[in-house]
Amino acid sequence: ILGSTGSIGRNTLEIVRRFPERFKVKALAAKHSVTLLAEQIHEFSPEAVAVFDAKTARQIEQLLPAGCRTRILFGAEGYATVASWESASLTLTAMVGAAGLLPTLAAIDSGKTIALANKETLVMAGSLVTALAAARGVAILPVDSEHSAIFQCLQGQRQEDAIQILLTASGGPFHRRAGEEFAAITPTEALRHPNWSMGAKITIDSATLMNKGLEVIEAKWLFEMPPDRIRVVVHPQSIIHSMVAFRDGSVIAQLGVPDMKAAIAYALSYPERLALGQPLPAFSKDMPLTFSDPDLAKFPCLDLAYEACRRGGTLQAVLNAANEVAVNAFLQERTAFTSIPVIVRGTMDTHVPVDDP
Ligand code: MG
Repeated sequence: ILGSTGSIGRNTLEIVRRFPERFKVKALAAKHSVTLLAEQIHEFSPEAVAVFDAKTARQIEQLLPAGCRTRILFGAEGYATVASWESASLTLTAMVGAAGLLPTLAAIDSGKTIALANKETLVMAGSLVTALAAARGVAILPVDSEHSAIFQCLQGQRQEDAIQILLTASGGPFHRRAGEEFAAITPTEALRHPNWSMGAKITIDSATLMNKGLEVIEAKWLFEMPPDRIRVVVHPQSIIHSMVAFRDGSVIAQLGVPDMKAAIAYALSYPERLALGQPLPAFSKDMPLTFSDPDLAKFPCLDLAYEACRRGGTLQAVLNAANEVAVNAFLQERTAFTSIPVIVRGTMDTHVPVDDP
C-alpha cells in the first residue's frame, strides 16, 4: 500500500482488517506521518516500509519495539523497492500527486496487479504507464470511484459498443456560489467537501473541478475513450458514481452511497465482491437524483484539463505540475482560489508540448 497513512490508505487497511483471511499487508509506504505509520507497522507487521527521507526513517525506527522485523527504507529507491516487493501480488498506489508516478512504474515493471488511486500517474504519463502495463501483462484496476463505476459498467460489454462515458461530478462545495465571490474563498472553506472525505490536495481539486478534469484524462487512458466522448455531468448527490452510454441508446450506471471503501474493495477483490455491509442508497422521495452541466466560466480548470487531454503529450504533465504547485500555494494562503486556473493557464501557454510516443 503506497500512501498508507492517507485517506485511501487508511480505508484500504480497514478492509484488510475486516477480511484478514483474504489479505495480508506485505509492505507500506508513507511520507512522514510517523506516529500513524508506527501504529500500522505494529498492527499489520509488514515486511518492509518506506518513508520520505532518512530522518523520517530514523524517527520510525525509534518508535518501533526492539526485535521488530520490519525493514525501514526511504527515498525514491525505498519507495520503488516496496512498490515492487517480491512477496506482494498487488500494489495499491495512493500517494499524493506526482510522487506516485515512479513507484507505480516500478510496481508495473515487476508485474504487480495495480489498484490505482493516484490519478496523477495517468495524467502525467498515461502513454508510458499504459504501454508498460501492456508489455508486462499487468492489469490496472481503478480505485477512483468514478473510474471504478465505469469499469463496472463495462464488465461483459464490448469496447466498440460503448459510445460515451458520463463522468459524474458532485460539483464540490462551491457549485451554488456566485462566481464573483470566488476570489474570497479560503482554504478552510474549500477543504469542506459536501459528500466525500478525502485528503487536502484532492479536496481542493474537487472545489476547482480540476479533479474532474484530471479524471477525464484518467478515463481517456484507462478506457481508451477520446475526450470528445467523455462528458462531465454534475450530480450533487454523488449516488451515481458514473455511467456508460452504449450505441443502442442504453445507459448503464453504477450507484452506491459515497464511501471510498466500495471502490477500493472492488479493486482488491475483482472480479469478486466483498460483503462490505454498506447501506444502500435510500431510493425514496427524500433522495432526488439531479443533473446539470458544469459551469465552465466558474470552473475554468475543467476546460484547461480538457484542452490538455485533447492536445495530449507533455501538456498533460505540465497541467498536472502547475496545478500541484498552485494548489499548494493556495493551501499555504500564498495565492487566491481564483489564481489556480490563472497559474495553470500561464504555465501551459509557456510550454511547447512534445507528443505522446
Ligand atoms: Mg474521483
